[in-house]
Parts: sequence; structure tokens; C-alpha cells
Amino acid sequence: MIEFRGARRRLVETLREKGVTDLAVLRAVDIVPRHLFVPGGLVHRAYEDSALPLGDGQTISQPFVHAMSLQLLQLTGAERVLEVGTGSGYQTALLATLAAQVFSVERVPSLLDRAREALRKCGASNVSLMLGDGSIGWREQAPFDAIVVSAAATEVPEPLAEQLAEGGRMVIPIGSAAQQSLTLFHKVSGAIQRRDIFAVKFVPLRGRFGSKKT
Ligand code: SAH
Repeated sequence: MIEFRGARRRLVETLREKGVTDLAVLRAVDIVPRHLFVPGGLVHRAYEDSALPLGDGQTISQPFVHAMSLQLLQLTGAERVLEVGTGSGYQTALLATLAAQVFSVERVPSLLDRAREALRKCGASNVSLMLGDGSIGWREQAPFDAIVVSAAATEVPEPLAEQLAEGGRMVIPIGSAAQQSLTLFHKVSGAIQRRDIFAVKFVPLRGRFGSKKT
């Protein structure tokens, strides 16, 4: 993919300056064509380090937030990963280069259709997509070595904690509708360790184990 190569390189430099150090994550940003995942009218802004509207009241997250979330997962390439909230599919494509298998759940049919098409265009073959409520996880494919949730919850949905493998890591925005903390959970000997990373603002996680009204 020669198109936008320079713009992508500059985005990688910006992420590096902001503190992203994981070389595999930086390489993923360098090779995944983000312009395939933003709405047509916003292609010229695809390589800005900013969130952009996707339609349906949803947003493609800021590349810095994606990169930090993925860096926190410490993927080696061997993992089975669950993503809740496919959205544009951009983070799904990054995950596809960083892990062995990616399972991603989205509840809005039109977004999932567009994500599927963009992922096909960029040749991601180790991705399975499902339309449905990701707050209940994907039981048939569990356990997962890593889980990344792209929508905000008031607490960790119980099914996701259960579907996280021993030694696994989960990144999820936790908090109120107005503001959340990007939070890393690490399952060690059956217990869950928690670390708050930084303040973020995501759209709410819907569904059965989704965000409670706050
Ligand atoms: N990482 C994505 C984020 C999209 S916004 C991107 O950068 O494009 C969050 C997404 O989560 C939205 O598409 C929304 O529809 C989806 N979502 C919210 N609640 C959900 C649920 N319970 N199950 C599946 N998807 C959900």
C-alpha cells in the first residue's frame, strides 16, 4: 500500500513522541491503512491523531488511545483476542497483525458490514466477526488471552472477566458516562489485578452487562 505512506509514517512519529514504545504496535500503525476505515468524506483526516465520527453516533477512537491500549495488552503474536465494539474495524486490523486470532463483536449491523469490507480490503484473514451483544463476550471461543473493550462500562462485565484466560490481560474504559479511566486488568492465579492508566471518553457499552446509567 503506497497510498498515504508518508502520512502514516508521520502518525507513527507522533505516537512515538507521545510515549508509545512497543515496536510491534508502531509497526502495526505503520502498515494498516486507516483511511480504509474512516467515512469517505473524512479520508483526508485519516492520519491525524484524533477520533473521528463514524455515523450512528459512534466514533473511531484516537490512534494514540488504540496504540496505548494495544501496548498494555503486551501481545506476542500467539494470542487469541476478543474485541468488544468492532466499530470501524481499524483496531481489529491492528490486532490482526499483533495476535494469532481475533474475535470481534459489534451490535450495529451497518458498522459491522463496513468493517467487514474494510478488513477484507486490507487482507486480514485471522479475524472472525459477530453481530451481537459483546457485553456477554463470545462463550464458544473463550477463553481469551487478551480482551479489549472499545466502549465504556461502569464495571467489568462479569462474563468478560470469566472468559479471560489465566495470565490474560483486559483493557476497558471504566467510569461514568462523562469520563472514564482506561483500565488494565491482569488475571493472576485467578485473582484480578487492576491498574488505572489515564482518563478517556468512550461511547457507552450497551447490552446486558453494559454501562449502568450514572
Ligand atoms: N475501536 C472502535 C471503536 C468504535 S466505538 C473504532 O475505533 O472504530 C465503540 C463501538 O462499540 C461502537 O461501534 C458501538 O456500536 C459498539 N458497542 C457498544 N456496545 C456494544 C455491545 N454491547 N456489543 C457490541 N458492540 C458494542
